[in-house]
Amino acid sequence: MRILLSNLFLCDGTPNGFIADAAILIEGKTIVWTGPASEAPVAAAVRDLAGRVVIPGLINTHAHGGMSVQRGCCDNGDLFEWAQTIAPFTSVLSLEDNRFGCELAVMEMVRNGITTACDCTRFGAGIFSDVASAIGMRSLSGALANSPQYRKTGRANWPLAREETEGAMARHAGNGLVRHYLGAHSPYSCTAELLIEVKQAADELGLPFVIHLAESAKETEIVRERHGTTPMRWLHGLGLLDERSILAHCIWLDDEEIELLAETGASVAHNPVSNAKLASGIAPIPAMRQAGIVVGLGTDSTVSNNSLDIFQEMKASILLQRASSLDAHITDAADAFAMATREGARVLGWQDAIGTLVPGKQADLVVLDLDHPLGNTAQRVLSDIVYKAGPQHVREVMVAGSTIYADGRFSNIDAGAIFARIKQHYAHIPSA
Ligand SMILES: [Zn+2]
Repeated sequence: MRILLSNLFLCDGTPNGFIADAAILIEGKTIVWTGPASEAPVAAAVRDLAGRVVIPGLINTHAHGGMSVQRGCCDNGDLFEWAQTIAPFTSVLSLEDNRFGCELAVMEMVRNGITTACDCTRFGAGIFSDVASAIGMRSLSGALANSPQYRKTGRANWPLAREETEGAMARHAGNGLVRHYLGAHSPYSCTAELLIEVKQAADELGLPFVIHLAESAKETEIVRERHGTTPMRWLHGLGLLDERSILAHCIWLDDEEIELLAETGASVAHNPVSNAKLASGIAPIPAMRQAGIVVGLGTDSTVSNNSLDIFQEMKASILLQRASSLDAHITDAADAFAMATREGARVLGWQDAIGTLVPGKQADLVVLDLDHPLGNTAQRVLSDIVYKAGPQHVREVMVAGSTIYADGRFSNIDAGAIFARIKQHYAHIPSA
């Protein structure tokens, strides 16, 4: 099946990749041609997008979908206070709670133009991928192992996480929307033995390795006390960092660590809103990208953010850097859009298929209702995407050539029924 999307303003996600009056030819799941509509190949099916803006599906490189039911349960407190406050909830989180959370999270992400997410949980490594693929979203997901002696309410989740992940991989064999990783929670909640075992298992299975790293100053203190070095140097010394490592946060890195990290080829998931809300700090993103480290944007969970909205992350990624450096040129809209699209794809190791809208890539795209009063130009559209746009502008979301959301409705699920079922399930919980 060949379909031509026509009469659109294309932002294909490559540097300077803007075409007014453009068209996109899709064959099955794949983009086979893009260019000026006047030069478009003939196709049996043509859809007129009425001049709307088309961008690559946004990529969320760090999330915890399963926690979504608890949104707003702790809006104050730093990372460690926050973790203590939410522990009574997360320690009793059942697999059913996790599934409800994932349903809420995936629906919210799709409404917000996110077509791919990297998700983390403690138990139920395959739940996010089950939910995301049923809705039609792409995912890289898994569980983060932790050592019970370092988490007060912790139960061992390793090697269970590996078993759950291998089960999910078998369930989704041949499903191009689904990928998995093996991960560990953080340097402060894992022993060296566990970290090494998880990374070796990931390497054996050919999977990425995900971990939170250098998220707060207190983490550095704890790791220094235990191991006599910083979290990043400790992981580096254990041999955990390479081009298949995805590191969430990386706020507390010194210049030498940035150089060291760049040499390893590991990539970074930057969560500016969550980091600011938890008063964790502002990651040195311009210095990292300058050093050649690949950085994508993430939302973290609805308990620490509380939105799963990459438009907000794009804007915050610029505002925080400028406000803290007093340098209005330190980072700009093109940087933010790159992190939300093609660099996010590289963080997840999925750049062969997603991140830009060019021939050969999967048709993962978002149609935005953006209409500048002076007319759409490359500069105005990029500015609107990064500084103005939000879920209210998302008209349609397509993943692998299939429309999974359009005009407020999901194609594969009844979102209203799912939300009603979740509310019913928690009806016994007092509302005040
Ligand atoms: Zn996280």
